[in-house]
Amino acid sequence: MKKKLISGALLTLFLVSCNSVPKAKKEVNVSKYMNTITSDELSTHLHIVASDEMEGRDTGTEGQKKAGKYLIEQYKKNGLSFPAEAGDWYQKIPSEFMAKGFSPKLNDSENIWAFIKGSEKPEEILVISAHYDHVGTKNGEVYNGADDDGSGTVALLEIAQAFEKAKEDGFGPKRSILFLHVTGEEHGLHGSRFYSENPLFPLKNTIADINIDMIGRRDTLHPNTNNYIYVIGSDRLSSELHTINEEANKKYTNLTLDYKYNDRNDPERIYYRSDHYNFAKKGVPAIFFFNGVHADYHKASDTPDKIEYDALAKRAQLAFTLAWELANRDERIVVDKDGK
Ligand SMILES: [Zn+2]
Repeated sequence: MKKKLISGALLTLFLVSCNSVPKAKKEVNVSKYMNTITSDELSTHLHIVASDEMEGRDTGTEGQKKAGKYLIEQYKKNGLSFPAEAGDWYQKIPSEFMAKGFSPKLNDSENIWAFIKGSEKPEEILVISAHYDHVGTKNGEVYNGADDDGSGTVALLEIAQAFEKAKEDGFGPKRSILFLHVTGEEHGLHGSRFYSENPLFPLKNTIADINIDMIGRRDTLHPNTNNYIYVIGSDRLSSELHTINEEANKKYTNLTLDYKYNDRNDPERIYYRSDHYNFAKKGVPAIFFFNGVHADYHKASDTPDKIEYDALAKRAQLAFTLAWELANRDERIVVDKDGK
């Protein structure tokens, strides 16, 4: 085909008209913010959140409340606040709500939230969740729950800090992000169930839930590497969610994405066992990051010294880059699957 010749006059006109339209969007250096999520900071936070002082963070106990206060302090330090619609940091959950089935009588408890308002589509909400409760103390031993789910809890702090730093540089997310620390998970996913039945923002405007529960260890099926993560649920409601996560990983983190527990016939039924499920069952696309179980799972020996902080950082970085894309892409992800 013949090359088109552009006359000088036309070229000038072209350049002038280009100048009069808004400048092309600046390419944001996502890696710069991703790299603010560091193993050192995760370690500092986790050695506090999963310390003996927090007494295993059982739902409704003083130890859990103390851990919650630490989280709030960190958000304040990083310049974040609670959602204005909420009026404070807590979503209170009455004891009666958690009086279900196998659950023992629990004290009133609270979900904790922090919020970054979207710059272009503030009414569309991305939730990033992790449970901050664990199982408390037994026979005088503290169950620190460093991996379960201290790891997800401190990942949220670091992800929020990364988004806030980007915002300070003028790159705040287009959509709003709700950082949701849910309570009562160990006693039956109570906090996330409460949120899904009493959402602060309409679930129809909630574009996705990224749930993080145990990302600081390796399991017995991966004895020689920690460079992997189980991804569960991503393809159940939205093919785009699944694809976007794969693309984010390929571009930024290069973890092996293991879909073993996403198998519909897997006997462990992990898909139903953490907080994302309360979003998924209401039709909100959900993705769950999980490292699998290990010898210290639900034992007093799940301590912060056993966490592999390099793996924790990398997995938190994947969650961040996925969140970045979900919050900033032009169109919200489409629900095109039936959830099964
Ligand atoms: Zn857990």
